[in-house]
Amino acid sequence: MTESRQGNGRALDVVASVADARARVAGWRRDGDSVGLVPTMGALHDGHMALVAAARAECDRVVVSIFVNPMQFNRQGDLETYPRDEAADHLLLRAQSVDLIYAPTPEVMYPPGFASRVSVAGLDDCLCGRTRPGHLTGVCTVVAKLLTQTQPNRAYFGEKDYQQLLVIQRMVRDLDLPPLIRPVPTVRAADGLALSSRNANLDASQRAKAARLYQVLGEVEQRGRLDPPKDSRQVPLYNGDSAAAWRSALAWGRDALLQAGFEKIDYLELRHAETLESLQMAAPPARLFVAAWLGATRLIDNLAIDPRRPK
Ligand code: AMP
Repeated sequence: MTESRQGNGRALDVVASVADARARVAGWRRDGDSVGLVPTMGALHDGHMALVAAARAECDRVVVSIFVNPMQFNRQGDLETYPRDEAADHLLLRAQSVDLIYAPTPEVMYPPGFASRVSVAGLDDCLCGRTRPGHLTGVCTVVAKLLTQTQPNRAYFGEKDYQQLLVIQRMVRDLDLPPLIRPVPTVRAADGLALSSRNANLDASQRAKAARLYQVLGEVEQRGRLDPPKDSRQVPLYNGDSAAAWRSALAWGRDALLQAGFEKIDYLELRHAETLESLQMAAPPARLFVAAWLGATRLIDNLAIDPRRPK
């Protein structure tokens, strides 16, 4: 275990074993401190820092896990090129007064003979579950392990990975895992692009094109959503006009992404925001989901449909 003093006098420990992580958290909880866990794969940016800030605001102690989880990568090349910067991560977390970094090795997480999987039927067979087979099972398995390894009171997840958030919420409910799951809104760059560790793999021209992803989601929403009713107490009418408007808005959106230079679209879909059922029209709560490729980099984003938002 390594330890260094932070400016505020608190210690920032870096541990790699389950026993050390669990002992640290158990000690704090025995003292009556609440503990928040922020699971990450490192290459930290302001999106991760929003999760840390949310944990800091609600919990006495904050643990950040850094583990590039091989089980959730369905392409070996993606795992190999996933950005890593341990020194920069530690500096950022120290500046945020994080109490503990838990950075297990793959051998600690998956010792020889490891054979178990956690999967959430239904929620994980569409969107990223369909286009990245095994990805969400890898996520659930590692998150279930991180939660039982560290035993926090709360754990923080970003809405940027909205399907992942839903799947984790369902897993925690189904398996009676004790931590509360706290969603955190997506943090974006000035041009709207959702911050992501993978953005580091974009060259300058791809980075410029990437901004269209979120802009196109907003434009699809504008095209698909019928005018809100004049009386704000009324919910909008959902009818055949609405279904046709969404069909043509989504077709327009796919075309707009290709025009913007995305080479491939895994999905651009309207779905129920809790069950992920496919929707013909945006009866609330609905959400738009997109995944598209720029070169070898796959970007995802999502947008809540608010039927009352002024157009
Ligand atoms: P990752 O390191 O990409 O696995 O992400 C770790 C956590 O940070 C996940 O809960 C993500 O949803 C969250 N996260 C990543 N990017 C963002 C962002 N731009 N805004 C909010 N949360 C994010």
